Amino acid sequence: MEQAKDKQVLLEVQHLNVQFHLKNGKKAKVVDDVSFVIHKGETVALVGESGSGKSITSLSIMRLLPMPPGEITKGDILLNGKNLLHYKNKEMSRIRGNEVSMIFQEPMTSLDPVFTIGNQIMEAIRRHQKVSKKQAREMSLQLLKEVGIANAEKIITEYPHQLSGGMRQRVMIAIAMSNNPQLLIADEPTTALDVTVQAQILKLMMKMKKEQHSAILFITHDMSVVAETADRVMVMYAGQIVEEAPVREIFLQPKHPYTAALLKTMPSLETEMTRLPSIPGTVPPAYALPNGCRFAPRCPFVMKHCRQVTPETRHIQHNHSVRCHLFTEEGVLAHDGERSFT
Ligand code: SF4
Repeated sequence: MEQAKDKQVLLEVQHLNVQFHLKNGKKAKVVDDVSFVIHKGETVALVGESGSGKSITSLSIMRLLPMPPGEITKGDILLNGKNLLHYKNKEMSRIRGNEVSMIFQEPMTSLDPVFTIGNQIMEAIRRHQKVSKKQAREMSLQLLKEVGIANAEKIITEYPHQLSGGMRQRVMIAIAMSNNPQLLIADEPTTALDVTVQAQILKLMMKMKKEQHSAILFITHDMSVVAETADRVMVMYAGQIVEEAPVREIFLQPKHPYTAALLKTMPSLETEMTRLPSIPGTVPPAYALPNGCRFAPRCPFVMKHCRQVTPETRHIQHNHSVRCHLFTEEGVLAHDGERSFT
C-alpha cells in the first residue's frame, strides 16, 4: 500500500446531506452530514453494508444522483477547490470522465451493447481530447494492452456481450482511465467477479493509479478489498461516517463496535470457517432510524444512554475519529473500561 505522497487536498466533501422523497410523501435522509477529504494520489475506502449510503455519496460526487427522487439538501463538494454542485450539467459532463471517472460493479450497465469495445473507448477519448480517429484507435489499443488485454486488435472489434465479466471490467477500467482522471471512484468494482479475477482487477487498478498518479475512492462492503488497497478508511453506517482512520489503525485498533463487527466478517487464514460470520440484524432504513445511536439495536456494547443521545464525532487521535459514546476525546473507553471487542 502506498501512502499519499502529496498531501494536497483533491476532493473535499463538506456536510453533505441527501434525502429521498418517498412515494408516500415522506422524506428519508440517506446521507447525513457526511464530510471527508481525499488527497492527491491517495486511496481511500468507504466501507459499510448495503443501505449505508456509500453509493449515494459517490453518485452525489459524480452528480449522477437521480433527482427526483433524490435531493442534495445541504453541503458542498469541492474538487480542486471548485464546487461541483455549482456546475451546469454541460460543464459537469466535461468534468465527468475527464477529471473524475467512475466504475461500477456491473460493467454491462455502463457499456453500450450496440457499439463495439473499440468505438466506446475511442468515443470516451475523443469526448475530452482533440485527437483524430486514427490516433484515438492507437490510444485505445494501447489502453487495452495496459489493462492486460493481450489480443487488443481483436477485442476492439467485439461487442460487450462477447466478453467475460472480468474482461468487461478491464475495458471499463480502460475507459475510466482513458483521460487520466485525478480521481477514480470505484463502486464495488470486483463484487460480481470470481476471487481470482477480483485479485487481478484490484492489482490492475492499483497499477493504473500509480502510473497516472490518480486518487481512488473505493466503495466496498468487503474488508479484504480494503486491506489490499486503501491508505485510509471511512466506515459508514445508516447514512453517517462512524469511524475514520489510516488503514493500519482500522485493522489493528478498530474503535467503533460496527467497524469491529465488519472486521469479524473477513475470512481469516488462522481460523477454519465453513461459513463467515455476519453481523446480526440489518441496517435500519433511512425512513425509520432509531433514536440515539443508529447502531444501538445491533451493538453488543449498547448502554441506556446510547438509545437516547446521538453520539457526536470525536477526534480521539490525530487522524482517527469515531462516533460512539464509548470513547472520550482521549480515546479511552468512557464506560465499562474492562470491555474490549478487539
Ligand atoms: Fe454501541 Fe453505544 Fe457506541 Fe452506539 S454509541 S456504537 S450503541 S456503544
